[in-house]
Parts: sequence; structure tokens; C-alpha cells
Amino acid sequence: MDIEAFRKAGYQAIDRICDYYYSLEQRSVASQVRPGYLKELIPDNAPEEGEDFQQIADDYQRCIVPGLTHWQHPSFFAYYPTACTFEGILADLYATSATNPGFNWACSPACTELESIVMDWAAKLFGLGDHFLNSAEVGGGVIQTTASDSGLVAIVAARSLYTSKHPEAKLEDMIIYTTTQTHSLGVKAGLVLGLECRALEVMPEDKYALRGETLKRAIQEDVGRGKHPFVLVATVGTTSSGAIDHLGEIGEVAKSYPSLWIHVDAAWAGITLACPEYREVAQLDNINKYADSFCTNFHKWGLVNFDASTLWVRNRKHLTDALDITPEFLRTKEGDAGVVIDYRNWHLALGRRFRSLKIWFVLRSYGAEGFRRHIRQGIELNKHFVSLLRSSSDFSLVTEPSFALSVFRLMPPSIVSTEIDKEKLEATLNDLNKDYYSRLSGRNDIALTQTKMNGTFCIRFAIGAARTKKVHVDHAWQILQEEAQATLSAWGKPEAAT
Ligand SMILES: *Cc1c(COP(=O)(O)O)cnc(C)c1O
Repeated sequence: MDIEAFRKAGYQAIDRICDYYYSLEQRSVASQVRPGYLKELIPDNAPEEGEDFQQIADDYQRCIVPGLTHWQHPSFFAYYPTACTFEGILADLYATSATNPGFNWACSPACTELESIVMDWAAKLFGLGDHFLNSAEVGGGVIQTTASDSGLVAIVAARSLYTSKHPEAKLEDMIIYTTTQTHSLGVKAGLVLGLECRALEVMPEDKYALRGETLKRAIQEDVGRGKHPFVLVATVGTTSSGAIDHLGEIGEVAKSYPSLWIHVDAAWAGITLACPEYREVAQLDNINKYADSFCTNFHKWGLVNFDASTLWVRNRKHLTDALDITPEFLRTKEGDAGVVIDYRNWHLALGRRFRSLKIWFVLRSYGAEGFRRHIRQGIELNKHFVSLLRSSSDFSLVTEPSFALSVFRLMPPSIVSTEIDKEKLEATLNDLNKDYYSRLSGRNDIALTQTKMNGTFCIRFAIGAARTKKVHVDHAWQILQEEAQATLSAWGKPEAAT
């Protein structure tokens, strides 16, 4: 393809992308294809001779689009939002047009310098303390692929720091702390690093948040048996229910155990810190006081297309001590002089994408106020959703709503009042809600996900897609009621209730 052919195909691609967005609401939210569908449409081998690009572009529409689940659909309430904006798409296009692996400052100075500036913009937008700023040259910020990578990088740095201070600690005695509600990234880091991971218990009465006492007991137990807990992955906004660990209590406990690195994973909820009114709930002061590292994802609720996970560390030296490997061919005079950041030493891989461009485009085009409006709108829509749920006695929230996430289940008085054995009732409710959820997941005009919390089967409603409005929440509520009625009347029949 030459430049003029690219120009033509590029215009067509943008036109088709616009058509896609215009048609989004008419599409089925989740893809309806069967496993293996694509093998029937695409040959087993790459073509020997190059093909006409028009045909390739048409095959994208014919073969690929039907197999897409439309996360940008305004009725997408599953998992978590991946709010994507045109500004971000355009930034990706520019970034890829000047593609380079960006591992050193010298690879393309703009890539490193923009990342370092944009990470400071974001830190200030969220109210993070000066010690996290790149400009202060103590801590700093770096864009990782995902929150899982951010967590792994933090844990690698924590391990390095710990073993340098405690050379007697054997790897088999070192422990990563998570909670039973922490994202699986903690367990995965344990798998990758060959380290034990211990999930601390959290309670429904604490809204599934980690308490200081629980941490204290665990440390006493583990240290007592010669173990070395060295990092805690605490969460602001857990994946299941949006729970927020008690960072203040955790920080107090960690004072008498200063070798414990505290990583705060706020992959989904962290961007609410942009709004001053949510900083107390999201524990900004405690993050600034106690977190050794902090992560949030712009690529979830934060209007930036996947991927862009932002990670800040209190002390950049802890990262580079763990990850700096400089063979001769990677040396540069700026790097040797220590006057630039070489981001290859701040993450696991060597090469890296030019992700800061999309954060830059989005923050400039929306402005801090526009960004906050988007967050506030998600939270307002969730309040509206919660008021609808509360208006019906058939539904019950499983835990307090968190920002733009609600976790609920069917709990109709007709069933609750007839079953007095608590255990049996819970089992019945779980079966009922599984039936209900399976009806909901059969719908193509809405997408939701399930979760289980301390044995309770529940349904998550996650708001935050860039184009979701009140009408979509109202429509979702209509569907939820319709399917609830259908589920309950099926259960009303004697053969179904047994
Ligand atoms: C979504 C989520 C993750 C995982 O995010 P990735 O960027 O896909 O790794 C981790 N933790 C929390 C709290 C999340 O909500």
C-alpha cells in the first residue's frame, strides 16, 4: 500500500467507524456467534499472494464485526466500563503512525517526555501528593499495560527492596497479602514469581473491606512462624463490589511493620479522585500517606481506549533497583548522565507503546471539568438505578452501591417469607438468581455480569460507558423487571420450585 492508497483506505476506515458508532445502539450488545465461527470464514493459511485491500477492509465488516461484543454500546453494564473516546482513537492512530519501541529517552524523546509530563498532569488531577510527581524526581509515574502489570511491577519492586533489607529471608518464606476480594492479579503475581499469596478474610458487615485488625493478626501469625510478608495489595473499589479497604487502619498497622510495601490497586475507581467530593470516600489522604505505589486505569472509566494503566511509586529508585538492566547496546549518553528517564527500567518489558498521547488528547479535549462531568454522570446514573431498585420489593442490594457500581439480587418477599431456615433460604435464593441471570444473559439488548460474594450469587450493574444516558438505565430497569417476572412465574409453577 502506498501513501495515496493509504489516504483513500484511511478515509474509508474513518467513515466506516463513524457508521459503526451511529449503528451501535441497534446492535446486539454481546456477540451472538458460536465458538469457532471464524474458522468457517477465514482460510487456514495466510495467502501466498497479497490481496486487494478493499477486500480485506470488507472482510473486517463481514467476518470480524459480528464476533465483537460492543463494550461501547450504551447498554453495556457488564464487567467494568471501557469508556472510549474519539480523541483517544485519533491519538492511537498518530502514535502508531510514528511507531517506535520507546524504551529509552533517546528512542524518541517526545514519547518519554510526554509520558512524564502527562503522568504529572494526572497525578495533580487526582490530588496525589508531590512525592508521586515525576517533576520532584523522587517518586514518579509510568504508564503500564494493565493493572495486573502495575501490580506485578509493584510486587517485583517490593520483593527486591525487602530482600535487600532482609538478606536472610528465603523466597519460599515470603508472602504476598491480598484479600478474598482482591483482583486475581495478586494470585497471578504469586504464580509468576513463585511466591505464596495469602488472601485475608473480609466480612459482609465491613462491606467486604479489609480492616487493620485482620492485617495485624495475619502479620503476627506469619512473622511468628518465620514467614516474611512483604507486600499488601489493598484495593480502592474491588472488582466484585467496589469495596474500599480501610487504608488508614492498614497504614497504622504497617507503622510497626515498616517493611510491608502497600500497593493500592484502584484500577476502576481511582479516577473518581479527579472529583474533590469523592476524595474522602476514595481515601486520597491515606493513599498519599501510606501507599508505596498506586495504580488506576484510564482505560476503564477514564475515557481513554485500552490500554493505559497509570502507576505511581513513592520512590522511583525502588523500581529501577529491581528492574534496571543496562547492557552496552542500550547505553546512551543521556542515560549515563542520569539526566533523562529511561522507562524500560520502570516496567517489565523492554519496548513500550506511546500511550501518553491518548491521555494527553483526552485530558486536553475534555478538560479537567469535562473529565469530572463524565465521572459524576456515571455516579448520578447509578444513584438513579439504585432508586429504581429500591422502589421494588423484589430486589435487594447485596452491599452498598459503590460509585457507579451496584450489586444486587432478586429477593422476593414471596420466597423470603415462606422459608425460615436461613441456610435453605440462601440456597434457594442462589438458585433463583442463577436462573434469573441466565435469562438476562440470553438477552441481546443488555450485558451484565455475575459475581459471588461470600457464597452469595449476585448480579453486577456497572455504569460508565461513554455513551450511557438515563434512557439506557431506564431501559435496563425495564428489562430487569420483565425478566424478574418471567423468572418468578416460572418458579411459581410447582415443578420448577422443587
Ligand atoms: C479491572 C481491575 C483489575 C484488572 O485490570 P487489568 O488492567 O485488566 O489488569 C484489577 N483490579 C481492579 C480493582 C479492577 O477493577
